[in-house]
Amino acid sequence: MSLLSSDNSKPHVVLFPFMSKGHTIPLLHLARLLLDRGCEVTLFTTPANRPYIVHSLSGDDITIIDLPFPADIPGIPTGIESTDKLPSMSLFLPFARATKLMQPHFEKTLQTLPHVTCIVSDQFLHWTVESATKLGIPRLGFFGMSNYANALSRDAAVNGLLSLHESADERFNLTSFPWIKLTRNDFDDPFNKREPSGPLFDFIIETIIAMSNSYGLLVNSFYELEPLYVEYCNRVSKPKAFCVGPLCLTRLPKMEPVQERRWIQWLDQKLEQGNPVLYVAFGSQAEISATQLTEIARGLEESNLSFLWVVRKSGIGIDDEFEDRIKERGMVVKEWVDQKQILEHEIVQGFLSHCGWNSVLESICAGVPILAWPMMAEQLLNAKMVVEEIKIGLRVETVNGSSNKFVQAESLKNQMKELMEGEKGDEVRKKVKEVAETARNSMKEGGSSWITLNELIKEIHLKNE
Ligand code: UDP
Ligand code: UDP
Repeated sequence: MSLLSSDNSKPHVVLFPFMSKGHTIPLLHLARLLLDRGCEVTLFTTPANRPYIVHSLSGDDITIIDLPFPADIPGIPTGIESTDKLPSMSLFLPFARATKLMQPHFEKTLQTLPHVTCIVSDQFLHWTVESATKLGIPRLGFFGMSNYANALSRDAAVNGLLSLHESADERFNLTSFPWIKLTRNDFDDPFNKREPSGPLFDFIIETIIAMSNSYGLLVNSFYELEPLYVEYCNRVSKPKAFCVGPLCLTRLPKMEPVQERRWIQWLDQKLEQGNPVLYVAFGSQAEISATQLTEIARGLEESNLSFLWVVRKSGIGIDDEFEDRIKERGMVVKEWVDQKQILEHEIVQGFLSHCGWNSVLESICAGVPILAWPMMAEQLLNAKMVVEEIKIGLRVETVNGSSNKFVQAESLKNQMKELMEGEKGDEVRKKVKEVAETARNSMKEGGSSWITLNELIKEIHLKNE
């Protein structure tokens, strides 16, 4: 597929992902899709993030430029250039704010590049819209959330629904989607407040304003997954949302031979034994307390299920003998894994997930049902979508019914068993396989996301001539 213009020039797309794995991985997939369509691609990053990107795109004909990451930001250790490496997520805001210091470098470098057709930059790099405007280049904001989460947040905000009730647990109906009930607890701080305010709130508002000043919103989702919400977003807010996903269905050059990984060998073994495996992982950022980790370990141990658990960092809270006691049926991994590869393994038949949007999409595409345990940000809404809207998962129960609080071993055990062995688990497993098929069709030649991306590139390229 080629999208050449009349003078045979290729579209040249500049990508600028935010520095975290969850925001970078989908744009690497997008890079591949753009190359497949005959575009030139230049990707901006920072020195510490470069090796991961080079490794992921090895062999692809793409220009990678790193801009120095701002030094001496209070609280941020030198060399940490990714939010998943931060000592605490409380540093997210200073980190995100610091990226603006890259603006002069970014603009200077942009001007040295061959004609740029458009810039695709992350929603958190909101200052890039200023650069794009200055240089007369259309900017597409990469939006790492679903239209569902966007629509629900917007409807609650514009209709003043968050300030209605004293209690954060009180339910209210959305104005545009009256069948959906929410509480303020379905939102994370600062949006769970009656009057949201503060530095994080200000930052998010700035990113929303920057989005509205952009050419379009590039959404990692597909129309058929959430038609009502895509249409709502396009009706009530600017700019237009272009659904071009699930991007995770794109194949990157093979990173390493599958069989070399010990957890894949272990999954193969479980397949031979016919023991379905529950995959347990909470993304690249979640901060889980030691007490909560102990509770997860106990739940897994008492469930008698086979499981593969990816624990970030050292896994403090898991006792030394745990791995020994469960070694017949469980595996604990403390390294970076290729999550897609794990989810695609046919013996993996359930996913206990924090519902980061990438994880949800990867699970959908692999046809694996989810046990939703949202921890922060819009994960709470993603979990609601997974369970109530697309019905491809169950939800963990928290101690006091509030959406993002402590979860006890007993309740975890019961919900894990329901997902893996129960009737409700079977229902959502059947459903997710149907949704997986729709997802694949949307990315195939002639599918909704495939068409949207082509039309978008063509549209911008022609406007540019
Ligand atoms: N990395 C990154 N951003 C950073 C720091 C590191 O993407 O700010 C990448 C690094 O290039 C390498 C991987 O993360 O590919 C592992 O980093 P590190 O060597 O710090 O090891 P770790 O102990 O975190 O696995
Ligand atoms: N991921 C991975 N290996 C890991 C941890 C995470 O491949 O060990 C990937 C995962 O497949 C997903 C991304 O990192 O693509 C995490 O994004 P998500 O939106 O699920 O969660 P976040 O990390 O942003 O909270």
